[in-house]
Amino acid sequence: MLEKLKEEVYKANMDLVKHGLVIFTWGNVSGIDREKGLVVIKPSGVDYDVMKPEDMVVVDLQGNVVEGQLKPSSDTPTHLAIYRAWPEVGGVVHTHSTFATGWSQAGLDIPNIGTTHADYFHEAIPCTADMTEEEVKGAYELETGNVIIKRFEGMNPMHTPGVLVKNHGPFAWGKDPHDAVHNAVVMEQVAKMASIAFAANPNLTMNPLLVEKHFNRKHGPNAYYGQ
Ligand code: 13P
Repeated sequence: MLEKLKEEVYKANMDLVKHGLVIFTWGNVSGIDREKGLVVIKPSGVDYDVMKPEDMVVVDLQGNVVEGQLKPSSDTPTHLAIYRAWPEVGGVVHTHSTFATGWSQAGLDIPNIGTTHADYFHEAIPCTADMTEEEVKGAYELETGNVIIKRFEGMNPMHTPGVLVKNHGPFAWGKDPHDAVHNAVVMEQVAKMASIAFAANPNLTMNPLLVEKHFNRKHGPNAYYGQ
């Protein structure tokens, strides 16, 4: 079942290793088949060295395992909350990549202060609020999804396809698993660049016109970037 999507999700998980975003068993990628309403996700706690496409787990949007021998990622309820909230999302990624996680731990949004950021993320990459005791003690991974969705009230998640979960780390998404990984890689680079830039000049700013120019030339109604 969903063999092509399993291959895609497996490859996207392995791409996290290739791009240096994960070590050990940290991180997870999923992808959704919207027609069937089924999600394919990495199994929990399996080393990337030994993981195979057939180890991917199929779950429905309520988290019931539909196919697979292994337990799905511990973060599955967070991924599912994102798929339920935002119909345009086709792939979700979570990592503990160093610079993005550093900003999550600092509890700060990453301000849009460079064209690399503006090419991919229209707004500052937001950091979520502290989770309450009830949220942490309750359905923690589902509540993590809920705090992400709450943080995006009034924002377009496809124009700013990533978030920093406070004290935890980044989640990114995209139109499919490959695109979600691409955005996670860019987010880590943007976090690294912002760390260097703010260390050099804590008072830096960027002209908002430049943000609009860069975002719109790739994603606006008259986008002209690329072939
Ligand atoms: P899983 O192996 O369960 O996906 O967990 C990895 C992780 O990064 C948890 O936050």
